[in-house]
Amino acid sequence: MSDTTSEPPPRPSRPTVHVAIVGSGPAGVAYARILSENAPDASIVVFELGATISDPPGAHVKNIADPHERARAQRTSEGPLGAARANGNGEETYEDRSERLVRAGTFLLEDGWQQPGEEGMPALAFSSNVGGMGAHWTGACPRPGESERIGFLQDLDELLTEAERLLSVTADALADAPLAGEVRKRLSAVLDEGRAEDRRVQPMPLAVHRRADGELVWSGADVVFGDATRSNPNATLFDESLVTRVLVDGGTVRGVRVRDQRTGHEQDVTARFVVVAADALRSPQLLFASKVRAEALGRYLNDQPQIVYATVLSGVDEVPSGSAGDTSITAQSGVSWVPFTDAHPFHGQVMQLDASPVPLETETIPGSIVGLGWFCAKDLQSSDRVEFTDTAVDVYGMPAMKIHYTLTARDHANLDAARASIVATAHALGAPLGDEPLTFPAGASLHYQGTVRMGEQNDGTSVCDTHSQVWGVKGLHVAGNGVIPTATACNPTLTAVALAIGGARHIAAQLTDRSS
Ligand SMILES: Cc1cc2nc3c(=O)[nH]c(=O)nc-3n(C[C@H](O)[C@H](O)[C@H](O)COP(=O)(O)OP(=O)(O)OC[C@H]3O[C@@H](n4cnc5c(N)ncnc54)[C@H](O)[C@@H]3O)c2cc1C
Repeated sequence: MSDTTSEPPPRPSRPTVHVAIVGSGPAGVAYARILSENAPDASIVVFELGATISDPPGAHVKNIADPHERARAQRTSEGPLGAARANGNGEETYEDRSERLVRAGTFLLEDGWQQPGEEGMPALAFSSNVGGMGAHWTGACPRPGESERIGFLQDLDELLTEAERLLSVTADALADAPLAGEVRKRLSAVLDEGRAEDRRVQPMPLAVHRRADGELVWSGADVVFGDATRSNPNATLFDESLVTRVLVDGGTVRGVRVRDQRTGHEQDVTARFVVVAADALRSPQLLFASKVRAEALGRYLNDQPQIVYATVLSGVDEVPSGSAGDTSITAQSGVSWVPFTDAHPFHGQVMQLDASPVPLETETIPGSIVGLGWFCAKDLQSSDRVEFTDTAVDVYGMPAMKIHYTLTARDHANLDAARASIVATAHALGAPLGDEPLTFPAGASLHYQGTVRMGEQNDGTSVCDTHSQVWGVKGLHVAGNGVIPTATACNPTLTAVALAIGGARHIAAQLTDRSS
């Protein structure tokens, strides 16, 4: 694969390709990988709005050893304002937006995130960089269970297994952390009763592997690209390239219009297949701009209402804290998973915290503070949506977003139940910090789903079919968390990559079918 870390190729180098992919996060890149493996003769281009921030392109920022370089990579990912900050030493202070909860490597939607009388999504955020949010994520990759699963996909488990391969997922990386066994034992005692074996408390599957020297390497889009894509001479990645239109003619996709962000030059690229993997908000934005406007486009927007708490493990031995220069984390209590079930409808992540978010009054054993995050499945409503018009535009000249988002009575009841559950669990682990758990503002989960959702039939409640092909537009696919049609509480990237693999195989089969 040609990449942008060496001499940049002319942009784009080929006016005609087999497949154009919009967005270089884990979902878009999964298409590049599967096509490189299954249809190596196909020409593939990946267009990414953001800059290259790591080497190899798409690598996770946690793998960048130098803290200044890491900070600069994060700032560069934070949209137009962040890019300006990155020109300094990368560590300039932020305007205080803590009430909207902004995370390093991401930037908030400036306008349109709340409508009168609605909750809105105060913490709605994006990343713009090669690798997308996948260069900044935590890497938790649980499988969906019970009502989270997509019932009409018979091959879902096989696709999830393949997604685990692409993301390099393992449950072993931190499973033997010194305090992990004790954490799991205490969680199991209060949460395992009545659960199927595969839905009991267990180590969290993580997209991470250990280098020979023992350091953890976090998976980003670089791992999904893999050597198969990097060594594919027919695959090219263009950074700082905004796709402004998908070109469609007579119910068939014809290509994309792409703008070089460095020069402003726009060009049409002809493609037999186009994959829009521009995150769950910007994928519907691009389809809207392209006049591809299925009834369900942008609707059923959901994120996972989230409660967090922290507790100090009681009665445990001291664990050494992180070494200098450790870019990942030192194993202390690891990451434990409380799987979602319909009876306990929360996805629980119980993670070691390197530092307490709350000032401590008592002396604590280093490594003994654990954070608990309970994610709920949102009650799906077609009225929760990202809306666009033909007139209002954002800083990129793309249709401006207007978010409609409300919590239902069931959502509030679920949040109350999650609060009670997290408090009981924090007490079972040790001594909770602070009087009450925190309820994060909507959007804080960073898991936005449903806006280009998959369906079995073109009945107005979905945007794409079971191969992720947009209804009524041959050759146009969508990818990412927006494709997930169910209300999940678990982290969605594994599922999104699984669905992308299904779509990529469908394209590869057409490209290698000599009769087509
Ligand atoms: C701090 C943090 C922690 C997280 N933890 C987890 C976790 O533990 N587990 C989990 O499952 N998920 C987690 N996530 C979410 C996870 O990162 C996302 O689910 C995942 O990255 C989505 O992949 P994607 O490819 O669909 O989109 P993204 O990774 O968002 O990539 C989309 C890309 O498209 C580009 N783009 C947008 N519009 C255009 C355009 N018009 N033209 C060209 N390019 C465009 C964007 O610049 C972006 O780079 C976390 C995210 C963050 C920030």
